[in-house]
Amino acid sequence: MKLLHEGKAKRVYIDDSSPDNVVIEFIDNVTAGDGAKHDVLEGKGKLACDLTAFFLKSLQKKGIETHLVKVLDDTRMRCKKVEILPVEVVCRNIAAGSFCRRYGIEKGTVLAEPLVEFFLKDDSLHDPLITSDAAVNLGLVTHSEIQFLRALTLSVNHYLSELFKQVNLVLVDFKLEFGKTTEGVILLADEISGDTIRVWDEKGESFDKDLYRDDEGDIRVAYSHLIELQQQMDIDAVPVREEVIHVIVQPKDGIKNPPGEVTRKALSRLGFTNLRDVRVGKVFEIHLSKPITSAVLDQLTLMNMKLLSNPVAEKHHVRLDL
Ligand code: UDP
Repeated sequence: MKLLHEGKAKRVYIDDSSPDNVVIEFIDNVTAGDGAKHDVLEGKGKLACDLTAFFLKSLQKKGIETHLVKVLDDTRMRCKKVEILPVEVVCRNIAAGSFCRRYGIEKGTVLAEPLVEFFLKDDSLHDPLITSDAAVNLGLVTHSEIQFLRALTLSVNHYLSELFKQVNLVLVDFKLEFGKTTEGVILLADEISGDTIRVWDEKGESFDKDLYRDDEGDIRVAYSHLIELQQQMDIDAVPVREEVIHVIVQPKDGIKNPPGEVTRKALSRLGFTNLRDVRVGKVFEIHLSKPITSAVLDQLTLMNMKLLSNPVAEKHHVRLDL
């Protein structure tokens, strides 16, 4: 098999059996501090492969599309070939790591709600935090893609947090990467293992790469423990997270909007005089009983064309972040 790419902890090969797939091999490397610390830990690749396979399969069962096609052996999986998006997405439930350093927040502070952050995937710049506006402005992702990444990440957070809750562990934070297929479909890619998540028990003990970062133990013991606990994790018992999509339908510019005019006049009578124009549209709040996928978004386009909006007089856009 021909090597396509070698990362810090994985190798990606051409899959000779299909041009649409690649083979990803988890290797025994572990790095921290931007590669400043580096070790080879025999058996770690298998543990990361096992953990990733379990979490990706569990998420797939809930309708989240991932790149995983098939686990081939202890350290290799066949995955859909994707182009990895240049933004990494971090979701945090509890303050730890760079979040504490950046904002001076005490480690362990429970966040008011899950927080999604974007990081530019660029080793030479040390993967800096990037705002969603900058990521869109620089053409790294589109506005709708960034909303999609955020919504999917929150879904993943729900399912993983619930799985860990079943074994009395808390999902503190995690990092995701997404990839785009040649057809333009965005899939959850890369890995979900002790290398990319933080999980604590009730006493605040870590079962993740922090053990290695902080020289506090052998990650292989912690990862093996997580694998044992997976026997007790049951994704079927996790309730489906309801996803909400808003479709905003507005009158097109230049098209008369009598309800808007009536409203403007009524507001003027009440003393709100500086209103040049008021346009009245409508909002559809659509509740889904499965995660948002590219197929769901395609369906919405059809729904808009067929029912929700009148393409001659109205414009519409989909919001996943309201
Ligand atoms: N993370 C990762 N790869 C990275 C940076 C972070 O997998 O290159 C994971 C990390 O394991 C943690 C979460 O993303 O679960 C948040 O990491 P943080 O931003 O706190 O960075 P760190 O403190 O690890 O530098």
